[in-house]
Amino acid sequence: MIEGKLIVFSAPSGSGKTTIVKHLLNQEDLNLEFSISATSRAPRGDEQHGKEYYFMSAEEFKKHIKNDDFLEWEEVYRDNFYGTLKKEVYRIWESGKHVVFDIDVVGGLDIKKLYPERTLAVFVKPPSIEELKIRLKKRKTESEDRINMRIAKASIELATAPQFDYIIENNNLKEALDESYRLVKNYLNN
Ligand code: 5GP
Repeated sequence: MIEGKLIVFSAPSGSGKTTIVKHLLNQEDLNLEFSISATSRAPRGDEQHGKEYYFMSAEEFKKHIKNDDFLEWEEVYRDNFYGTLKKEVYRIWESGKHVVFDIDVVGGLDIKKLYPERTLAVFVKPPSIEELKIRLKKRKTESEDRINMRIAKASIELATAPQFDYIIENNNLKEALDESYRLVKNYLNN
């Protein structure tokens, strides 16, 4: 099987990692494709099955766990499962592209452990927990309870940053985008 590289972006939600990943996907010279995760959470806003996620029931997700279909999976929030299907990564590699992930810190570090020689693991750091709260509220896609759940998790996630290959501080989006591009380009060229 052809094996490309794996570019992992992990961060507390609201840090801007999705914006960074989207930007990188638009840079054709990087030859990246997004790893669409499976999740048991409900679609938000205009999210579509097979685009942002493969949406499925918790039962279906558990069946995939049993069948050993996942490279990694996590119960990121209570009853909300998220995971990377092995066949998603193999499909992208077979198409001759490198894989880019937008996943939580535990999943990101798991992938680095599985493929240490072909993974670049990047942590995106938000300016502060306060700023994170403001960004999540602005998004207006979730209830106060869910936002608080994400904030509580963010503090724990921030502590894992030193385990990543690289930390990008997202204080200024334009700079974070440029830095991410340079970092990935350099990694793929070596
Ligand atoms: P959201 O519900 O905001 O889309 O995602 C919640 C968290 O789950 C985010 O940190 C996101 O990066 C993470 N996530 C998405 N897909 C996966 C996955 O396949 N595996 C893991 N471990 N986390 C994921």
